[in-house]
Amino acid sequence: MPANVKIPFNKPYVGPSEVLAILRAALGGSLAGNGRYTRLCQQYFEEKFGFPKTLLTTSCTDALEMSALLSDIGPADEVIMPSYTFVSTANAFVLRGTRVVFADTLPDIPNLDPADVERRITPRTKAIVVVHYCGIACPMDEFMQLANKHNLVLIEDAAHAFDSYYKGRPLGSFGQLATFSFHETKNIIAGEGGLLVINNPSLITRAENIWEKGTNRAAFKRGETDKYTWVEAGSSFLPSDITAAFLYAQLKKADYIQRRRKAIWHQYYELLKPLEDKGLIGLPRVPEYATVNGNFFYFTLREASRRDTILQQLQKAGIHAVFHYLPLHQSPYYLKHHPYEPLPHTERFAASIVRLPFYVRLPEKTIKRISQTINHLLT
Ligand SMILES: *Cc1c(COP(=O)(O)O)cnc(C)c1O
Repeated sequence: MPANVKIPFNKPYVGPSEVLAILRAALGGSLAGNGRYTRLCQQYFEEKFGFPKTLLTTSCTDALEMSALLSDIGPADEVIMPSYTFVSTANAFVLRGTRVVFADTLPDIPNLDPADVERRITPRTKAIVVVHYCGIACPMDEFMQLANKHNLVLIEDAAHAFDSYYKGRPLGSFGQLATFSFHETKNIIAGEGGLLVINNPSLITRAENIWEKGTNRAAFKRGETDKYTWVEAGSSFLPSDITAAFLYAQLKKADYIQRRRKAIWHQYYELLKPLEDKGLIGLPRVPEYATVNGNFFYFTLREASRRDTILQQLQKAGIHAVFHYLPLHQSPYYLKHHPYEPLPHTERFAASIVRLPFYVRLPEKTIKRISQTINHLLT
């Protein structure tokens, strides 16, 4: 980040309670994964959101890789997902040799369009991965219907979607599997960290085995078997209990964090509304079925060609605003193996989105200053 930047894009919210939790875990005599704090974090998600089973992972990327392993998806299969997402959504399946098929977003929300997904279903399609962009829910009734009708595994990449809802039901509870992220740019952080939600009970035992190096160690720890051994092809997806302790301290502050994040989101929205009314920008559209969880704030510029200049001008004014995903169907890696096929809505979002500084301790007066600067630049 250049030296003249005064308002960063992100500032991790960390206080003494996280540090104390780390100390307690470090001195507690048990630091490995699946310890006391890991279980407390998992219990939090299972109780607060009613998820049947959760496993803490080292990242959302790892939780996605576990999802690919659990879905038994291989080189003969196809998985449909948005191009407008983080690389991890695709990598998890590419590593299994699976063909990734990108579908376009809705015209007015950078979430996957169910109609475009349906057009791309073939006899080889095995799964659909949806991403709830900015924590705003995808149309889940449509995706549940599609998955049932074509017998597909539905997976939610809920990296942005902590404490957000579709028709009152928590995101992460719809797919057979769902994944959350605790990367420092997400609502609740652990530095690096993630969570796998297993909503299909028949996958729970395999998920635990894959998580613990392909062994039944989790069952052994519960006293369900008198030794543990190799039962499955697996890996090591569990974080140290030190990470879990940090995360648990964050989760205890989740109500405050969420109150602040939602307030910041709504403040930006209200302050930038006049620019939308003038037709200069598009604000995030939140359908009636969805909620705002304050993961980050974005708007689209009507004149996408001005986007990079506007980002530079904001930078000069000391405001670190950023673009977002470079669409995966236009990435060098994907184009090395596949021909280019346009995804018009995805490309328009990618070219026109601006994301603004967003963190728990962002003062109201700074949000005003940022909004005024944008107003000056655009009018
Ligand atoms: C952040 C993010 C990820 C990756 O999360 P990590 O915890 O950093 O692995 C995956 N998908 C989406 C949509 C993300 O935003």
